[in-house]
Amino acid sequence: MKNLKDLHKKNNNQINSKKRDRASMFLALFAVLFIAVGAFVFKNGGVSGTPMLGTNPSRPVELSFSDILRRASDIKTMTINGDHATGVLADGTKYTATITYDPEMLAKLSESGTAITIDTSKTWFESIATFAPLLLTLLFIFWLVRGFRRGGAGGIGRSLINQNPTKIATGKPKTTFKDVAGIDSEKQELSEIVDFLKNKDKYKNLGARVPRGVLLSGLPGTGKTLLARAIAGEADVPFFAASGSDFSGIIVGLGVAKIKEIFDMAKRNAPCILFIDEIDAIGQKRSTHSYNDQDREQTLNQLLIEMDGFANDTGIIVIGATNRVDMLDPALLRPGRFDRQVYIELPDMSGRREILDLYAKKVKIASDVNLQDLARGTTGFSGADLENLLNEAALHAVRNGRNEITADDIEEARDKIIMGPRKIRKMRPEDIKLTAYHEAGHAFVSLMYADITDPIHKATIIPRGRALGMVQHLPIDDKVSMTLAEVRANLSIALAGRSAEEIFFGSDKITTGAESDIAMATRLARYSITTAGLSKKIGLAAINQVGTFGVRGALENASEKTAELVDNEIKAWLDAAHSDATKHLVKNKKTVEKLADELLKRETLTGEEIREIVFGKTKQKTAKKTVKKDASKTKK
Ligand code: ADP
Ligand code: ZN
Repeated sequence: MKNLKDLHKKNNNQINSKKRDRASMFLALFAVLFIAVGAFVFKNGGVSGTPMLGTNPSRPVELSFSDILRRASDIKTMTINGDHATGVLADGTKYTATITYDPEMLAKLSESGTAITIDTSKTWFESIATFAPLLLTLLFIFWLVRGFRRGGAGGIGRSLINQNPTKIATGKPKTTFKDVAGIDSEKQELSEIVDFLKNKDKYKNLGARVPRGVLLSGLPGTGKTLLARAIAGEADVPFFAASGSDFSGIIVGLGVAKIKEIFDMAKRNAPCILFIDEIDAIGQKRSTHSYNDQDREQTLNQLLIEMDGFANDTGIIVIGATNRVDMLDPALLRPGRFDRQVYIELPDMSGRREILDLYAKKVKIASDVNLQDLARGTTGFSGADLENLLNEAALHAVRNGRNEITADDIEEARDKIIMGPRKIRKMRPEDIKLTAYHEAGHAFVSLMYADITDPIHKATIIPRGRALGMVQHLPIDDKVSMTLAEVRANLSIALAGRSAEEIFFGSDKITTGAESDIAMATRLARYSITTAGLSKKIGLAAINQVGTFGVRGALENASEKTAELVDNEIKAWLDAAHSDATKHLVKNKKTVEKLADELLKRETLTGEEIREIVFGKTKQKTAKKTVKKDASKTKK
């Protein structure tokens, strides 16, 4: 590890040695004046807007932070108190919102003429509010200088809009662990941090070394920011947030200054949480030597210095978030820095159910909505995706003049998110007919394997995204593994669309529409054969060690001979699946035709309707009972 003093010196030298741009300096001075006046105007504008609050007695609507950003031009006034904002929309409606104290938002709002008041009287965190204009001034200078550097004077206007915002701070969040659903073990792990922030002395007296840094890793939308806020909320301490991307690309040396600034602020307000989102933007492995990397390296060094610098009992917990731990410089992960790592996984089925329950409480849901089914059908969704799904469903309900969210709205929202919006596409009648038979093929063969594969959820010939139609299955629970029989069945189901085209239209009329079926089947076969050891011919060799189900990778551990064997084996499996599907469809031509006809008539059939058509009313009960097992997939 490098010596700290050296790092300090290096950083300072670097800054001093950079030629300061005179124009930037001039611009900065100008900006100070400009912003000072601007801040004054905001404040007074806001005060004059306040009486509006009395004119509309109805309950305020609740806006999300993204609503605010999106609808900036609709917002007439805003009074900011910590992370709470209230005000009036252009149409006189009152609103409340929880916001991040965010210059991007302020810039957007002021641009669209919103009168902004920063309410210092009630904020617990008076110093921030008092310094807000000053901070804003600094931020605007950064922006302006960046804009100037990039695009000359003409770039200034653009820079205000385009630059990454620097999120400086929020007050003590009201968010608590109650607002975080479905990731209980992570909450459990982090509750120790809360306890430490609450009972600092207990730990100090014991001489326990408490963590300074916690690294939250996980895919976007898994709730890293939410958890960090909740920790602050639970411990009742201030929450400061910045994003790694704010520190890069600024003129050389400002990244370092910015780091110093946020840590100073944290120290002044300890105990507190200092949250740095996208920490990989600063903390990438140090390797290359381009101009930008040098700057980032200094910023990273400064971060390391700061983290090493504060005493253990200060009560500052730095929480970093990233979805790329592998990219982080190992120095960041050493003891005394981000030595606690918590990986936040995508929620499993019960986690999804809990998250859905949490957000369903905030909207009106009709009695025909089954949230457990929705949790089943949303494998791979993050918390943010699930929240978004309910929101999409609510919008769909409103658009259709309903005052509650129905199962239809949910179905529409889910399909839209998974497959893309409905396509209004003029299709020739013969293409629609072919699609109906193709989907009927998938659906019918699914029922032939209902006892070992996921229950069929629906079949539709409504085009969506790139698909002309689809058959969806709904897993019973989260998939951990598949049996060989299940793999074989899924291959047959996947290739049954093509089989149906051949049987009912002739082998010269087959279409490219089976493209994604074939891709999916090939991936599954390849995975089973080269990674999961399901092929007798290839045996238990891990030839392709990349990924899980279906992730294609090179045959890196295979000799040429083995590679050929693998290719032949994949082909044999797919051929077998194809002829198996064909066999089932040929044997039951009449039923498949009936299914296709119904699809043409009704466009969408539910799993139940499909079972009824195929098995008739009486047999359906037995069929239902045998329907078991999991894995969400869609056959196009
Ligand atoms: P990340 O920081 O991991 O990208 P966020 O914390 O910004 O994710 O999540 C975005 C939003 O998604 C949150 O504000 C919250 O509304 C919702 N969300 C994500 N995960 C959860 C969860 N586990 N429980 C409740 N809401 C969640
Ligand atoms: Zn298909």
